[in-house]
Amino acid sequence: MPAPASQPDLLATAPVRVKVLLPLPFAEPYDYLAPADRLPPPGTPVRVPLGPRETMGVVWDETEPAGEPVAEEKLKPILEIGHDLPALDADFRQFLTRTARYYLRPLGDILSMVIRRFGAARPPRPVTVYSPTGAEPQRMTPARKAVMEVAAEGFPRTAADLAEIAGVGASVVKGLAEQGVLAAEERAADPALRQPDPDHARPKLNAEQKHAAGVLSGAVGQGFSTTLLEGVTGAGKTEVYCEAVAEALRQGKQVLVLLPEIALTQQIVERFTARFGAAPVQWHSGLSQKDRRLSYRRIVSGEARIVTGARSALYLPFPDLGLIVVDEEHDTSFKQEDGLHYHARDMAVLRGAVSRFPVVLVSATPSLESLRNVREGRYRHLELRSRFGSAGLPDVSLVDMRTDRPPPGRWISPLLETAVNETLEAGEQALLFLNRRGYAPLTLCDACGFRIQCPHCTAWLVEHRYLGRLQCHHCGYSTPKPRECPSCGAEDRMKPCGPGVERLAEEAQALFPEARLALMTSDLIAGPEQAEALIASMNRGEIDLLIGTQIVAKGHNFPKLTLVGVVDADLGLEGGDLRAAERTHQLLHQVAGRAGRADRPGRVLLQTHQPESPVLEALAAGDTNAFVEAELKGREAAGMPPYGRLAALVLSAPEQAQARDLAREMARAIPGPGDTDIRVLGPAPAPLAVVRGRHRMRFLVSSRSGRTLQGYIAAWLQAVKLPAAARLVIDIDPQSFL
Ligand code: ADP
Ligand code: ZN
Repeated sequence: MPAPASQPDLLATAPVRVKVLLPLPFAEPYDYLAPADRLPPPGTPVRVPLGPRETMGVVWDETEPAGEPVAEEKLKPILEIGHDLPALDADFRQFLTRTARYYLRPLGDILSMVIRRFGAARPPRPVTVYSPTGAEPQRMTPARKAVMEVAAEGFPRTAADLAEIAGVGASVVKGLAEQGVLAAEERAADPALRQPDPDHARPKLNAEQKHAAGVLSGAVGQGFSTTLLEGVTGAGKTEVYCEAVAEALRQGKQVLVLLPEIALTQQIVERFTARFGAAPVQWHSGLSQKDRRLSYRRIVSGEARIVTGARSALYLPFPDLGLIVVDEEHDTSFKQEDGLHYHARDMAVLRGAVSRFPVVLVSATPSLESLRNVREGRYRHLELRSRFGSAGLPDVSLVDMRTDRPPPGRWISPLLETAVNETLEAGEQALLFLNRRGYAPLTLCDACGFRIQCPHCTAWLVEHRYLGRLQCHHCGYSTPKPRECPSCGAEDRMKPCGPGVERLAEEAQALFPEARLALMTSDLIAGPEQAEALIASMNRGEIDLLIGTQIVAKGHNFPKLTLVGVVDADLGLEGGDLRAAERTHQLLHQVAGRAGRADRPGRVLLQTHQPESPVLEALAAGDTNAFVEAELKGREAAGMPPYGRLAALVLSAPEQAQARDLAREMARAIPGPGDTDIRVLGPAPAPLAVVRGRHRMRFLVSSRSGRTLQGYIAAWLQAVKLPAAARLVIDIDPQSFL
């Protein structure tokens, strides 16, 4: 913000009261004073005093006063108006308010997600750069000669850069500029952005695609709607939704495409660049701070027309957003699991509803929530039933590990081994999938049976051999693998137990010594570039056998990949999570979709100990509908989402006894159900009873009929007063039950 000098005395005229929402855990805005003749309208960022400090806030709408208004003489004036910060329009303010209400969080907490980014709004100062004019200096010195040589490279540079590269003082550069040997020019700090062209490279769509694209494009500019675009992997969903993106561009609207995983963005960015002739603006955690700040300015100024982003992009103040696409809408990473527990898919739909524009949800394996919304007529449904071109769907079969056993300490069955060999001999590529990071999920002492646990969590430490450490996947604690058993002291008896991908890679290398092998897991891949490099080398055929966790399951198109082996198809089914079957089905369906995308047929082998489970039968039969039908029926009968509703309340404290006592106290305040079917289960120790040294007690609130739970929970919590050491996390529509 400019220095106060540029803002004449704000209180020159009689001040009036305005509401300012602060980025703090308050539900209501505070009163401040502003000059009557220059009243900042709602949505204006302002700097205000708060006790001894100052903070940024946003002028907010009039609200019903919660109590007696503060006397006017006690109010403080607004210090400064943030003319150079993005204003939050009425729809966006409404979106924040509705987010707060839905997730039972103070509105100020939601605003803090927005204000946190404000710093990025200010462009770096314009810089002065120098380039040669062609004139010769009056007198040539070695120092001047060095500068001239650097300047002759043809990149305009700042005096400081020229001097540093030439190894001279900055005064030499200034001297040359004064003589007219170097010309100074101001360069805007943000380079101009190349704009996308909706008609740059339009694909020729087949009949099915054309129909879907027509419906999606037709919805743009026609108010709010939600459409589920469902279609097998490779059907051309991306090509189809790009037609709606193009239409939004033609109508002068910004488009946000939400993507679940950084690893996927590079591929989508390339496709968008090819389709629209310009790269989309990206927003995700893999960007450098400088790039992220630049993206921010382009988004909030409206210069960015297409934005691909991770879930947090939803809380950026776009000035003319007119379409949101949620790609891979079923993906669990759209749910934020710390801080505010929000689901970006659900909030995308809310944002569309508030701002009256269409939202498109895209998936090969839609969430049951979205499928139910389709059945209830709330969402439109578009289906692409066949893969584009000649590619057929892969042939999926089950390997019964009870009969086709690998030797002890190995995980690749003889059947899978043969299939990999056949694939490699045919000069094709294979993928082995195991959704478990690290080398071994458990390390135990084979002398005394001791298992190494995280000192801060209810979790085993996972061995990561590349890092040479044991690691907790919940809190990040890590420690070198001990030579001696921490319990009995026996030396060299700590043994890995069970497979992780690193161990699988070791086994594969031994079984297929000729194969060029690559490992792809989130710990070994630092960012999108590295993921992209690996994908590119896979595409060039430099890798024969790819081994990976769920990071490989998504979206990648490998034309020469014809075999997918799922090493443990039962993995996701353990633990009895509500969505275990659904998730496993989605994940395995996605992995299977990697096989045989081009002209070669693909096959998929699922290793399992329970081939009769409905999930695996459905996958083997390629019958998604039967699975979905059965799963929906089961959920409905059990009164579980997407029919019933759930919320989890997790109370934690540093001491176990304290957590228990407080939970008991909370339980005494549980309101009666009244005439609702709302019930509270618990308190019970959460399945992850200790995380980061905090003891966790959990309540589950449910309504079988699907009544909303927020009012009930709010009434309950009004009656609960917790000490500062306690923390209460409210998770509406929980996805994880740990
Ligand atoms: P999905 O998103 O449904 O998995 P994609 O959009 O990635 O499918 O399409 C799969 C492949 O087929 C991509 O390489 C895509 O470019 C190609 N493709 C799909 N539809 C068309 C089309 N109409 N014209 C040309 N190529 C297409
Ligand atoms: Zn831990």
